[in-house]
Amino acid sequence: MSTATRPARPDATCPIRPGEPCTLCQLDVTGPQDCPLVYLVMGDDELREGVHRTRLAVVGSQRPPRRTGRDHRTR
Ligand code: SF4
Repeated sequence: MSTATRPARPDATCPIRPGEPCTLCQLDVTGPQDCPLVYLVMGDDELREGVHRTRLAVVGSQRPPRRTGRDHRTR
């Protein structure tokens, strides 16, 4: 039986899953800084662009609805 303990979760977000925390899903990593998946994805132009598009979509979905200046609830 192993007595090794998994390190505490880092206080970082996952660069390839925008809006989600790093869950240390890769083996032997301490966070995004030494994550081989982040290294591979961010080193590829197409994959990095896909992550960027996803990040924009996540940020856009978290914004409050745009106000038009007209209140449609008037009676
Ligand atoms: S280990 Fe890497 S891929 Fe997994 S959540 Fe953390 S940064 Fe993202």
